[in-house]
Amino acid sequence: MDLVEYQGKQLFGRNGVAVPPPGRVCTTVDEVAAAAEELGPVTVVKSQVKTGGRGKAGGVKVAPTPAEAVAAAESIFGLDIKGHTVNVIYVEPASDIAEEYYLSIMHDRVGKGYLVIASREGGVDIEEVNRTDPDAVVKQPLLPSETADGLPVDTARDIITRANFPAEVVDAAADLLVALFGAMVAEDATLVEINPLVRTTDDRVIALDSKVTLDANAAFRHDGYAEWEVEGLEASDPLEAKAKEEGIQYVKLDGSVGVLGNGAGLVMATLDVVAQAGGKAADFLDIGGGASADVMAESLALVLSDPQVKSVFVNVFGGITRGEDVANGILEACDRLGEFPQKLVVRLDGTNAEQGRAILTEAAHPSVVSAATMSEAAEKAVELAGA
Ligand code: GDP
Ligand code: MN
Repeated sequence: MDLVEYQGKQLFGRNGVAVPPPGRVCTTVDEVAAAAEELGPVTVVKSQVKTGGRGKAGGVKVAPTPAEAVAAAESIFGLDIKGHTVNVIYVEPASDIAEEYYLSIMHDRVGKGYLVIASREGGVDIEEVNRTDPDAVVKQPLLPSETADGLPVDTARDIITRANFPAEVVDAAADLLVALFGAMVAEDATLVEINPLVRTTDDRVIALDSKVTLDANAAFRHDGYAEWEVEGLEASDPLEAKAKEEGIQYVKLDGSVGVLGNGAGLVMATLDVVAQAGGKAADFLDIGGGASADVMAESLALVLSDPQVKSVFVNVFGGITRGEDVANGILEACDRLGEFPQKLVVRLDGTNAEQGRAILTEAAHPSVVSAATMSEAAEKAVELAGA
């Protein structure tokens, strides 16, 4: 789960990572005007969308007066930034920037630990800095065994020094990095990024921007991250919202073949074979381990309610759930759903797949087509979608 900037700054602040003075979250120009009057004279007016590059897109403006904050808000509300429409603006007292740096920590799956990235050059695209001036970017892998009690301040100071931060900010930046690491662990984030981290003209080191990704698998430890759910922040797809309500793993895509399978790996492989067969998937839906008639019916209902879906590829590998249970689940789901225009192409494999296929053949449901292999099923589904 990604946070927007002001949420990331709240998360930083409560974990001791220095941030600018608190601002106001606004959804109307009037609210921006009031916030600028209160916090100004000089404020920064910032679009709150879950993507980077807002500055370049005109979504971040320093406003020397409240009137200019209003003008900025008028141009920023409704702005489309990489497909994200701006509905929320954060107004913050502007900071006086002397220098901009870069800091991030992410989970490093390959190294089975963390990766800290630090650079003296911030406020710009770090990938670009890495390409043009790789020496300016320090990448430090860290093992959990090295950070069991948090990030040691000596390690932090070493990273900051090697990244060529000016001597007078090394201590402050190292302390901030230690706090940033603590924030990541305490809040179960998989990514925390500060670009830019700045030195202000009065020599404070603060996070001027934030990017935070929380680990969805740790949501249960944080009340489901309910505190970060903000109504109206970004309009999400209505089907995705419904799936979330029902606890189904669903991602809307833009093709015409509905895809439903058990296990994220299998569903991803299914997207690939659909593409190989010349089609495009309409969604990614993982029904998870069990394939009960209930889950199957809810999942199928969701996929079939998408008007873009012209056929559905049901790809199930029987494990603990046996083939005959899956087949019966699909038939029961079809009965419950009544009539629908799309055909389901079902590929069953794994435990008791043959028995499952036999059940489907015998039932001869008019909406269900059986296929023996994944590629055969993909071809049929793509053909039926008329793609
Ligand atoms: P991003 O473009 O989405 O990464 O948004 P940022 O929050 O990083 O803002 C973009 C740029 O706007 C920063 O790199 C700064 O140069 C500038 N900026 C943001 N906040 C302030 C501020 O308080 N004062 C000043 N002077 N510039 C700011
Ligand atoms: Mn930024």
